[in-house]
Amino acid sequence: MFHYDGGLKITRIDLAIDVCRRQPRGFISHAHSDHIGRHELAFCTPATSKLYQHRLGPRQVKEMPYRRTLEWDGLKLTTFPAGHIFGSAMLLAEDDGQRLLYTGDFKLGESATAERADPPQADVLVMESTFGHPQYRLPPRSQTVDQLLDLVRTTLRQGATPVIQAYTLGKAQEVTKILTLAGIPALQHRSIYAISRIYEQCGCDLGDYRPYPGRAIEGCAVIAPPPRQRGALIEGLRRPVTIGVSGWAAAPHTRRWLRSDHAVPLSDHADFDELLELVQRVNPQIVYCTHGPENFVDHVRNLGYEARVLGKPHQKQLF
Ligand SMILES: [Zn+2]
Repeated sequence: MFHYDGGLKITRIDLAIDVCRRQPRGFISHAHSDHIGRHELAFCTPATSKLYQHRLGPRQVKEMPYRRTLEWDGLKLTTFPAGHIFGSAMLLAEDDGQRLLYTGDFKLGESATAERADPPQADVLVMESTFGHPQYRLPPRSQTVDQLLDLVRTTLRQGATPVIQAYTLGKAQEVTKILTLAGIPALQHRSIYAISRIYEQCGCDLGDYRPYPGRAIEGCAVIAPPPRQRGALIEGLRRPVTIGVSGWAAAPHTRRWLRSDHAVPLSDHADFDELLELVQRVNPQIVYCTHGPENFVDHVRNLGYEARVLGKPHQKQLF
């Protein structure tokens, strides 16, 4: 049903899944840069289509709204919310009674901006496993949100400027919504603002946010890209206090990657327990893992499922 050729491909229709190199046909689970390519024809949800074309310019796209099955050459393709960022999708491919579910990046828990994940059952599960180590067990989301709001409010009370450093697409909008829901207006770096406008056009309301006007405004938080991103610098800030938000903050050795004054483990990926929960919900005959530590497959096997790492040499064949 699928094969691996420098990336996952649905064999019958030669559909490449989340491959960055240009393909005749490519499914895009979401618009993060490690999942998109300049394909001749791209398949994705309507929101991902807008975000993808914002990043790469006008492209040929076949839009696939959630839960609406596309039939093609005897194959059925259906997208389901992945809970990762706005528009992110899992892909269910059904061929001759066999069901394959590809998760892309996903999260099972609540999000302020992404539709909650809704994974169907399948025979074959291809899943991301970014946080596939027990050290990445995240605290309850409500606790993380409280930690973020406490830091922001304390910083504002001290007359300093909270600068939340978050990925331009997804995390920045999630943080914006969390702040504005709590009555804290957000001033966004221009690259973040451009993407926020697309969220709004697609019906995802983010509350009271504006582009950063070149100086801090009392009572407002600033949302900036991570410091290592080109053009991330925000000028004109007085007494900035930086707050990194990432699932990587869950473990001490990856927390320092954030290079910020404070680190909050707000994640848009499933944590270790959610990864295993997904396997049990999908209940497949076999699991292929990607984007994570290779020994995650041992944890899946301990649950009683057959598991392999996707893209190992033994997979250069049909399945
Ligand atoms: Zn992603």
